[in-house]
Amino acid sequence: MQQWTCTQPGNFELQQTEIPARAAGFSLLRIRTIGICGTDIHAFAGNQPFFQYPRILGHELAAEVVESDRFSPGELVTIIPYFNCQTCAACTQGKTNCCENIQVFGVHIDGGMREYIAVEDRYILPGTGLTADELAMVEPISIAAHGVRRGKIQAGEKVLVMGAGPIGLFTILMAKILGAIVEVAEPNAARLAFCEENLGVNSASQASYQTVIDATGNKSAIESGFTKIAHGGQYILIGLQKEAISFIHPEFHKREATLMSSRNATIADFQYVMELLRTQQIPVKPFITHRFDWTRVGDEFLSIHDPSRKIVKAIIQGNK
Ligand SMILES: [Zn+2]
Ligand SMILES: [Zn+2]
Repeated sequence: MQQWTCTQPGNFELQQTEIPARAAGFSLLRIRTIGICGTDIHAFAGNQPFFQYPRILGHELAAEVVESDRFSPGELVTIIPYFNCQTCAACTQGKTNCCENIQVFGVHIDGGMREYIAVEDRYILPGTGLTADELAMVEPISIAAHGVRRGKIQAGEKVLVMGAGPIGLFTILMAKILGAIVEVAEPNAARLAFCEENLGVNSASQASYQTVIDATGNKSAIESGFTKIAHGGQYILIGLQKEAISFIHPEFHKREATLMSSRNATIADFQYVMELLRTQQIPVKPFITHRFDWTRVGDEFLSIHDPSRKIVKAIIQGNK
């Protein structure tokens, strides 16, 4: 079988290897569709902290069951790529998304940019009623769903989402589904226009918001967000960057604000998102702006950063 390996920053290599053997409790899956994430782009660019090469990227996956004790051959599935230890303090509280020993498939360990993978059954979710495109979008939408769930957002609540990249867009969508009144802070004109046209959400117009959610992962944007929190409000950080952040303590204190981070997602978030997709409450079509052929992965990544390509979400078609 073939696999795309990111051998070092800036380089992908199409390699030939054996189909993985399936151990007991694992299923053999054939990859149908791979969503490309900011994490993959940063890994390729070489600015993903603590990243090790060579690495097979890809964690937003739609796959077809080939061999399994639990699922039927031909069945479409997705996987929850946050491999967890089941024994640490976080796992025993059901917070497998922030397991102390987490291994994210396609980040810490080799992922899905290959023809076949063998995955433990407990990470496989049946995709009944969903298309391969939809299944490849479940993971990034679940990241957004988890952040919104952490904030216990209510109908009518004023929410500011900072950043209109894919995670920001999905966060807006998730908050809107709950009935929140959402505005966006996005300096890039093309991204803002996409958001206005496809989600009907406009630029920030208020002085403050009950809930502010960062989906930029940009230090100065994150720091500026503190001034947007209403008194009694909250700030949820979905985005991540590698520096220390700072804020004015008296400003934070007088608001009695709550600050929280949101990492990955749980199986409950995945199931919630899959149900929203099944009931057509989330359209994936407008978000999938680019589709790459399997043979072109190495070439496409060379210009994936180019803003003139206006990529919102790109997906790779698995090898036929
Ligand atoms: Zn992702
Ligand atoms: Zn754990």
